[in-house]
Amino acid sequence: MERLALLRSFSFSSAAGRTFIFGSGSRCQRLISAQYQQRQQLRQLRLLRRPFSQNGAALRRRWMGSRRGFSIAPQAVSTSPAPTSPSGTDESNEIALKLGFKKVSEEFIDECKSTATLYKHLKTGAEIMSVTNDDENKVFGIVFRTPPKDSTGIPHILEHSVLCGSRKYPVKEPFVELLKGSLNTFLNAFTYPDRTCYPVASTNVKDFYNLVDVYLDAVFFPKCVEEYQTFQQEGWHYELDDPSDEISFKGVVFNEMKGVYSQPDNILGRVCQQALFPDNTYGVDSGGDPKVIPQLTFEDFKEFHRKYYHPSNAKIWFYGDDDPTERLRILGAYLDQYDMSLAPNESRVQLQKLFSGPVRVVEKYPAGEGEDHGKKHMVCLNWLLTDGELDLETELTLGFLDHLLLGTPASPLRRILLESRLGEAIVGGGMEDELLQPQFSIGLKGVSEDDIQKVEELVMSTLEKLAEEGFDSDAVEASMNTIEFSLRENNTGSFPRGLSLMLRSMGKWIYDKNPFEPLKYEKPLQSLKARIAEEGPKAVFCPLIEKFILKNPHRVTVEMQPDPKKGSEDEAAERELLEKVRASMTEEDLAELARATQELRLKQETPDPPEALKCVPSLSLDDIPRKPTQVPTEIGEVNGVKVLRHDLFTNDVLYSEVVFDMGHLKQDLLPLIPLFCQSLLEMGTKDLDFVQLNQLIGRKTGGISVYPFTSSVRGKADPLSHVIVRGKAMGGRVEDLFNLIRCILQDVQFTDQKRFKQFVSQSKARMESRLRGSGHAVAATRLDAKLNAAGWISEQLGGISYLEFLRNLERRVDEEWSEISSSLESIRGSLLSREGCIVNVTAEAKILEESNKYLSKFLDAIPSSSPSGITSWTSRLPLTNEAIIVPTQVNYVGKAANIYEGGYNLHGSSYVISKYIGNTWLWDRVRVSGGAYGGFCDFDNHSGVFSYLSYRDPNLLKTLDVYDATANFLRELELDDDTLQKAIIGTIGDVDSYQLPDAKGYSSLLRHLLGISEEERQIRREEILSTSVKHFREFADAIEVVKEKGVVVAVASADDVTKANEEKGGFFEVNKVL
Ligand SMILES: [Zn+2]
Repeated sequence: MERLALLRSFSFSSAAGRTFIFGSGSRCQRLISAQYQQRQQLRQLRLLRRPFSQNGAALRRRWMGSRRGFSIAPQAVSTSPAPTSPSGTDESNEIALKLGFKKVSEEFIDECKSTATLYKHLKTGAEIMSVTNDDENKVFGIVFRTPPKDSTGIPHILEHSVLCGSRKYPVKEPFVELLKGSLNTFLNAFTYPDRTCYPVASTNVKDFYNLVDVYLDAVFFPKCVEEYQTFQQEGWHYELDDPSDEISFKGVVFNEMKGVYSQPDNILGRVCQQALFPDNTYGVDSGGDPKVIPQLTFEDFKEFHRKYYHPSNAKIWFYGDDDPTERLRILGAYLDQYDMSLAPNESRVQLQKLFSGPVRVVEKYPAGEGEDHGKKHMVCLNWLLTDGELDLETELTLGFLDHLLLGTPASPLRRILLESRLGEAIVGGGMEDELLQPQFSIGLKGVSEDDIQKVEELVMSTLEKLAEEGFDSDAVEASMNTIEFSLRENNTGSFPRGLSLMLRSMGKWIYDKNPFEPLKYEKPLQSLKARIAEEGPKAVFCPLIEKFILKNPHRVTVEMQPDPKKGSEDEAAERELLEKVRASMTEEDLAELARATQELRLKQETPDPPEALKCVPSLSLDDIPRKPTQVPTEIGEVNGVKVLRHDLFTNDVLYSEVVFDMGHLKQDLLPLIPLFCQSLLEMGTKDLDFVQLNQLIGRKTGGISVYPFTSSVRGKADPLSHVIVRGKAMGGRVEDLFNLIRCILQDVQFTDQKRFKQFVSQSKARMESRLRGSGHAVAATRLDAKLNAAGWISEQLGGISYLEFLRNLERRVDEEWSEISSSLESIRGSLLSREGCIVNVTAEAKILEESNKYLSKFLDAIPSSSPSGITSWTSRLPLTNEAIIVPTQVNYVGKAANIYEGGYNLHGSSYVISKYIGNTWLWDRVRVSGGAYGGFCDFDNHSGVFSYLSYRDPNLLKTLDVYDATANFLRELELDDDTLQKAIIGTIGDVDSYQLPDAKGYSSLLRHLLGISEEERQIRREEILSTSVKHFREFADAIEVVKEKGVVVAVASADDVTKANEEKGGFFEVNKVL
């Protein structure tokens, strides 16, 4: 029902609607803790740094898990007038003292309309930031400094393991129990290169304190330090089913990191970081190198926990509208059990001293064998900016500089690198300032070996030129407005505001610096603005380029070479190692190992007894509101176009979507849609080149994006297919916003062949890295394309078919440009019509009212004539089982069928049951005992497609067996009332997921498009709330069809597919893509 509500914030990839379900805002992520997630979710924050670059997400460096820091990260909520004064009374001091805490300092922070109090726990020295305001989305986080000494992945394995049961909650995975049965708005854990972070959030205070208690007990009293089997399961172990078999390595983190080490972008990131910091903790991998992980011993693991998971080494964060005294009370009960330790001295991160001269590193990465390796090199230049301290204003100025250099497609460094055609896409994330010392990285991938030198020279000469000439004032104004807009709008998407604030504060606090300072941007911002006004941008920015980059001797150039043999060499080395292990074992050893493997599996597959599960706190159904969340919606008409208005408090921002119908488009033009969308924003008009157009958008608005949207509609044969233009602006700039939307729609000229060719190369590079990193999403799209028309369209716009199209198009651009250009023109012709157009606006009543005249003027300019030709796309891909071969060490396995076609009628219980299957059966079998990083299922209730997917999976056919046994699992399931209730509450938590105003307005638009009425929402909610065991049994019959008739798509390694085809006589049709 409201799965579409799990939307990402304001930046959308150009892939179609399916992204919402499997993409980076999805369940898979919420199910899987740790590194991957951290990167993905923090990416949302980083999008604010480069807010509306269409391809921004793909360009960003993701390996560090470091979010962009101080300057542009979002800050907290500001929805009400400031409280009169902080509660800095003697009385509150006394209460704190009584609870064992000393108030260190307290400030009212205007930027986030919050009172922040820093406490120290007297007995242990633990530090607590207690932030109070009126934000109902409460956040708690506990962070330990955990710098590793080697690449065995201790911090990462520990991060996974502490969530596997604790003293007070002695069940297998309280984390999963919380995922099943709480209303959390955020629940996860992240491993950084030097710290480990455990955050939770909820809008329900009872739920919130439940979550806090489970997390505190988990980090301080985990069972994993006594239970070797948890270490084996999450870290690594030898697996041997039968003494005569081969031994293999297993472990959740082990496989997760194999996946990470299969992705060239990740490898590059790691190599850059390690080369920049050879002398401190950043020189090793906190996530774990699969080659080194098996060296980790249980003793070292336990010792690491004992030493670093100590209150003296902790920073604790509370945020929101709950009672600040209660926070201290809860904490006191845990912290009082400890004495002071020396851990904070040992965990201090040492500064990396600057080099005296530049360094060069060459590394290989595994590439596909059939690939053309001519243009597959990567080169990245990195600088460590300082080994001293930077003042706040310098940090802020560097943040601006970063935006000026790289923030938008029009930014000179980014633009010049891409226009050079020396490479396909940007690598390196620009400025990174979340570790102890800031760094700057930039480079290109998809470079031919001969051009590497040229890329390096171009980077340097461009920076030199910019240091000499500076930036033009329109560019500076555009960056300034973009940054200020995102600071004031404070839109963190689905990420809790309090969490983004915490991560920002932590960026300094974790190094024992002032935790308040990163929260206060107003003063340094004003002072920077004043300086720019007074001295001019040149005097402000140019010396920084000079000092921190050009004259900085600590430069590391990393070159990555594709190596088609590396993948198989790595595998052979692993096999050899395992054979040695086997050879060193006696018969008894082998028998014992087989027995231990059995024992571990048995333990993993035995569910917790219901009595044990009762210890995990949960809400009761009485705590759940009976009605779904309402979004005020008024439907009207302007110039014959339907307009949806949502009167919501948006802090003076207007959000608008203009939806055009794609249904009249000729079928062969479909795959051009994503490039058409990009061209609208990045091609320029007759009067404005694309740089000027981009700057104008930056100066006047909060950003504009254009992307396709597709979905099936329940009960209808024809799918939805739209192009959506999204924009936002301050209340006083609404006229500019609509003028600019009109301008990009009508005035942009599709004449720049060179730029278009760049778009094609970038998109191709993006699709290729998606294949390795998000194979599950690629598999899901492919499955859908075999099952329904909407899926087929999505696949044309963002799947393997799209990649094939792009590869062909890259050649065609040179020879058939005029044809392509006129195709783009005819797409515009068939889209731009008032017929089928819908406008959605979200803002306060006054702004809505004022915006009417601009909207009306805008719609006047759109042709009213209906485009000719009705097209019906009923295409599908053939219903064959397909293996998509890519160079990878881990697989992504999917299977799906349409259960409506099998006779199933939608019932709200299906949400509860799908979630339950994902959190129990698939979690236990695919992840815990199968060793995959994730296993989940999805029911698209619009199309009726029920699908299973695995993520970074060492298995292939075995995973399919697990899928096929799901119906039986449901049939034999014994479900007690508590478990059922938890499952229902957890589902409501998803359905009611917390949304900022723009997301509320947007969800309401999507419901309108999909024909979901308020009545239906109420019915589904009641069905969810009344789910019973009977429904589980019925659903088992419904999904039987997936087992019987389901189609399979796997994104997998060549070896595994060959083995599978030998074992199961040509089961897969093989499609070698990379
Ligand atoms: Zn992990």
